[in-house]
Amino acid sequence: MAISILSVGHSPAQTPAVDAKYETFPAYNGSDLELTVDASGTHFALWSPEASAARVNIYDTDRNTPAVHVLDMTKGDSGVWRVSVPQRLYGKFYTFQILHNGKWLSETPGIWAKAVGANGERAAIIDFAATDPEGWDADRGPQVKAMTDAVIYEMHHRDFSEHPSSGIVNKGKFIALTEKGTHTPAGDKTGIDHLKELGVTHVHILPSYDYNSVDETNLQANQYNWGYDPYNYNAPEGSYSTNPSDPEARVREMKEMVKALHDAGIGVIMDVVYNHTANNDDSNFSLTAPGYFYRHRPDGSYSDASGCGNETASEREQMRDFIVNSVKYWAKEYHIDGFRFDLMAIHDIDTMNAVAAALKEVNPNIFVYGEGWTAGDSPLPAERRALKENVAKMEGIAVFSDDIRDAVKGHYSDASDRGFATGKPGAEETVKIGIVAATAHPQVDYSKGNNSKFAYASSPTQIVNYVSCHDDLMLTDKLRKSLPDASEAQRQRAARLAQTIVFTSQGTPFMFAGEEIFRDKKGVHNSYKSPDSINAIDWTLKHDNADQFAYYQQLIRLRKEHPAFRLASADEIARHLKFDKTSQPNVISYALTDHAGGDTWRDIRVVFNGNTEAVTVKIPKGKWTVIADDGRINVDGLGTSSGGTLTVAPTSALILARE
Ligand code: CA
Repeated sequence: MAISILSVGHSPAQTPAVDAKYETFPAYNGSDLELTVDASGTHFALWSPEASAARVNIYDTDRNTPAVHVLDMTKGDSGVWRVSVPQRLYGKFYTFQILHNGKWLSETPGIWAKAVGANGERAAIIDFAATDPEGWDADRGPQVKAMTDAVIYEMHHRDFSEHPSSGIVNKGKFIALTEKGTHTPAGDKTGIDHLKELGVTHVHILPSYDYNSVDETNLQANQYNWGYDPYNYNAPEGSYSTNPSDPEARVREMKEMVKALHDAGIGVIMDVVYNHTANNDDSNFSLTAPGYFYRHRPDGSYSDASGCGNETASEREQMRDFIVNSVKYWAKEYHIDGFRFDLMAIHDIDTMNAVAAALKEVNPNIFVYGEGWTAGDSPLPAERRALKENVAKMEGIAVFSDDIRDAVKGHYSDASDRGFATGKPGAEETVKIGIVAATAHPQVDYSKGNNSKFAYASSPTQIVNYVSCHDDLMLTDKLRKSLPDASEAQRQRAARLAQTIVFTSQGTPFMFAGEEIFRDKKGVHNSYKSPDSINAIDWTLKHDNADQFAYYQQLIRLRKEHPAFRLASADEIARHLKFDKTSQPNVISYALTDHAGGDTWRDIRVVFNGNTEAVTVKIPKGKWTVIADDGRINVDGLGTSSGGTLTVAPTSALILARE
């Protein structure tokens, strides 16, 4: 969940007394918290410095049965409670329980439960080796040199496969992505074959850890949620498995999904939401070490930078350790190729740097990016927040560019507002900020930026460009609301122009699933719990909007085949990307010169016309190949041009290249 409010507001100078106490808690950074099964038996460990007693309840089933054993734990060093039994308890379930201020709190699976049963109520003891799909040891994600070489496709499991037209059997499940040869009634490819046909390099899946909202014991009710309500951070969500009560199936099926995507050459990025939990006093954090994992207001209430009722305290040692080791775990156990941090600015800069450093050790190709904003004010001072404005202090981390997003299509929160691609002048300089990936450029005047006033990125690898995602009105709906009198054909032209700007800009391009076939969400801007009738992608649109799909395919191809659009450094961008002077509103024209980035093309000219009238521009005379013109694109060329004064059709991009 992500409301793009940039929050740099008032921060109390001092940590509230209630939070100061937690700084004195002993931290424990061993890797044996929660559960270890080895030759000597089963060992439980729980970090809970303030508990006066702790116990483990052992169960035969994942819910609705009484405990078969209760094991009292013993307190050791660093606030860690332990108990062991000599048997290997595979197949059993368990919970922890602590005595706090004279009261036994509710049971919790613990914060490190790696396998759980239905609704994540009880943790499970399983043999992880038994969950590995065939060939898992050799499984690798795509080797991507720089994040800017990626093309990211954001999708929700249920959106992607639920519609009857998908032809997919395991609708809404992890293993939907393992089904090959699926197609619509008209014969258009769906599922993983569709992703391959489109050409994206990575899918970014909405939260896939165990979240709170969907009742996993009643899946026939067809519930829907985005999943920004974390419950068990280190176990897969049950509703995406074929049997939520089978902890091994949850793990194995998610791995099967990852493997199928990797086999198709596609990386997997997970959306992670460490910034808040679904519950407050009843969260697994609160039931493990009450208060410790959260920030508070001076009156002791939960502070709420997430807008969801609480915010976690990444600056506290045990919380930082949790976040760092949690992402490391997903990277190692599930071979995840990247992480998207929800409301990343709730976390502190040091934690995010620790995350990036730890992940690079697991796999140097892993990406980390996030929302460089919060949804409300936080006790964490602005200078410590992992804000967009602070990204230069975060090596190996990227932020979403709300600059290009709002400038191209109009403001995210004002449905009728238009932007550069929909004919509203005044956003040219902000679009240029997006084109140069928010790096310093001699021809970009940051004082005219609508969202940012300085070059906040030190490298294009720190920027993710997009015009649409799961949040707010997705592109089709935004175009319908902001261009109420336009035809669908005109709106599709605007979508093409908008995405051409994204895909030719420096930085990393990001798109929302289904835009390539002009799907919509019936105008619902916050569809986090809307039914399938709103969220499921209707794949019959692929036939109706075949030209739109072909355009996106070529855009992705253009980017993958031409390194000029994904330069490696701010310096290269400043040297090779030259804007033309133009006095026409809603027109941007630039050149990529001298085989930029080692491109086979010596010179490239890119012109965007956001006006609903044609404009003319001057291009140097020469032998040009026309790559894009009048709402069409072909990387092999649409024809030739000798330059000079050229007409750029309404709401379209003109791209020319010469060797
Ligand atoms: Ca769940």
